[in-house]
Amino acid sequence: MNSIEHFVDGKIFKGSSKKIGKVFSPATGEQTSEVKLADKADVNKAVEVAKKAFLSWSQKTPLFRARVLFKFKELIEKNSDELTKIIVSEHGKVYEDAKGSLTRGLEVVEFACGIPQLLKGEFTENVGTNVDSWSTRQPLGVCAGITPFNFPAMVPMWMFPMAIACGNTFILKPSEKDPSCSMKLAELFMEAGLPPGVFNIVNGDKEAVDAIINNKDITAVSFVGSTPIAKYIYENCAKNEKRVQALGGAKNHCVIMPDCDLDQAVNGLMGAAYGSAGERCMAQSVAVAVGKIADPLVKNLSKKVESLKVGPGLDKKSQMGPLITKQHLDKVKGYVDIGVKEGAKLVVDGRKLKLQGYEKGFYMGGCLFDHVKKDMKIYKEEIFGPVLSVVRVRDYNEALNLVNDHEFGNGTSIFTRDGDTGRSFASNVKIGMVGINIPIPVPMAFHSFGGWKRSLFGDQHIHGPEGVRFYTKLKTITSRWPSGIKSDPEFVMPTMK
Ligand code: NAD
Repeated sequence: MNSIEHFVDGKIFKGSSKKIGKVFSPATGEQTSEVKLADKADVNKAVEVAKKAFLSWSQKTPLFRARVLFKFKELIEKNSDELTKIIVSEHGKVYEDAKGSLTRGLEVVEFACGIPQLLKGEFTENVGTNVDSWSTRQPLGVCAGITPFNFPAMVPMWMFPMAIACGNTFILKPSEKDPSCSMKLAELFMEAGLPPGVFNIVNGDKEAVDAIINNKDITAVSFVGSTPIAKYIYENCAKNEKRVQALGGAKNHCVIMPDCDLDQAVNGLMGAAYGSAGERCMAQSVAVAVGKIADPLVKNLSKKVESLKVGPGLDKKSQMGPLITKQHLDKVKGYVDIGVKEGAKLVVDGRKLKLQGYEKGFYMGGCLFDHVKKDMKIYKEEIFGPVLSVVRVRDYNEALNLVNDHEFGNGTSIFTRDGDTGRSFASNVKIGMVGINIPIPVPMAFHSFGGWKRSLFGDQHIHGPEGVRFYTKLKTITSRWPSGIKSDPEFVMPTMK
């Protein structure tokens, strides 16, 4: 059995904890590895190492750090096939989708290569007579990242390249369900010339997370995962005086206006609802059908959902892979059972799907519900599986209110040919990331990613310019160099003249 350890001080670290977790191949249902689950002592050891490494890493020039990132970028490109296959083997998503998610992570590394430009600060000559003032952004210290299972490369890469480029050192606690991709990235970062101790990985579960929250030497925590855990991280990190950004769950609505290009909308929805088996925080899990579009929308969708090609991620013909674990598969199917009991119309039922040769894999087919209502559990809660709910509304205003009243506010889209409607939606919808005729509006690395409402706790979005702000603290310096000027003590609040 393959054993996955931790990565500390530039090398594999076995730690003292004997606790282990199981890693599966979702495609076959077989256990492929054991992963070590760190205890408090293991986490504290990693932090001690990172704290020491910070002393020299924070003193390196931004250009030096950028050059290590350039090399890291090259190595990710060179090893992209291997990294993609690791994602497929432990997560289950299809190869091209996994490769795309790696590319979205790589783009953050590319952005972080520009760190000398991003850390320049601001300068004002003569804020007062012969007085100059400038501001600069300095690193925080040891930062930590806690990440979910659904993007084992991209989400960690939203965090650590940014933090490290800014001069911090980093402890990553990846999802214990698919930790191998992070371990490979750590190896490549070392090969790129990163000094030992700057990037460390502790594998683990709640015990490791609590050790991160309670370690006084960790100055900032980035979290991505479900909303209850995001709230827990936010509250407890704040209590322990840490800077924190905690991105949570989602229930993304895609508004389909009667004037839209129906083919575009249906194809957009198919990819956004069933891509990665719906295990995306930007998945569109609610289609809001406005007025007379509802019947043709459901008719067109149902044909495509029925013909979805479900299979192992390495099979080129597969459009959708399995779910992450047996428990998650049961949970998603359980939601479908609930939806039927609640009275929604199950137009396509993927619960019974079995794949020949992969009978133990964690597969299900796509499910499509029609006539879903606001008070149903399947509407209110995040399912995180290949289940799309159609809610029928009379007009645009009812659609907008529906989106705005939901507790989550991660992403949303509208399909329309009308500029007024698109513009009104973009400015009035209470959601962090908005698409107009774009089904999955994930911001590029040089913008920032984040939701509103209960999809993000904290005030800074992740990566891009907000990432630089999150991983640095601002210092403002005011200076003058008086020579030969005699001045008396001043006892009043200084004002600039
Ligand atoms: P999760 O919340 O179960 O786990 C996320 C991380 O928290 C993991 O590292 C896990 O080990 C840790 N964790 C789990 N339970 C914990 C506990 N009780 N105490 C402390 N730590 C704990 O999430 P997941 O199932 O891995 O990922 C799916 C969720 O992540 C979905 O809700 C999805 O919407 C969300 N997500 C959000 C974004 C975003 O950008 N907003 C991106 C990706 C995923």
